[in-house]
Amino acid sequence: MPVEALGDYDDGNVFARILRGDLPCKQVYADEWALAFHDIAPQAPVHVLVIPRGRWRSWADFSAGATDAEIGGYVRAVGHVARMLGLETPGYRLLANAGTEAGQEVPHLHVHLFGGKPLGPMLAG
Ligand code: 5GP
Repeated sequence: MPVEALGDYDDGNVFARILRGDLPCKQVYADEWALAFHDIAPQAPVHVLVIPRGRWRSWADFSAGATDAEIGGYVRAVGHVARMLGLETPGYRLLANAGTEAGQEVPHLHVHLFGGKPLGPMLAG
């Protein structure tokens, strides 16, 4: 069910539970700003989610309200994960859904990192 990009943060969302350690994940990387783990329903040979540790619903509130340190730490973590996974040379795709028309389902900011095969057109349909 798609969610709004803005609004109160829901501490019960699935990624908040993963961050607290209440739910397991297949971790790829963690630092003080971000956590990266494999998507539970991968749509490419590599499909990793990178999330900030802060309570941000989407790119919309994060880009407006996060500190420069949070934004810098998060963006660097995304790049670090792509490097770690050896995706810079073959290439990779980043995707962040924000709000209902984008089909965002989890109300905690996340970037999808796809790779491991030619990824085809940017948008389906
Ligand atoms: P969105 O549509 O919000 O951009 O993407 C949410 C993503 O989270 C989906 O690709 C979905 O497969 C993934 N996801 C949902 N629940 C879980 C979970 O419990 N664990 C993991 N690892 N991924 C999840």
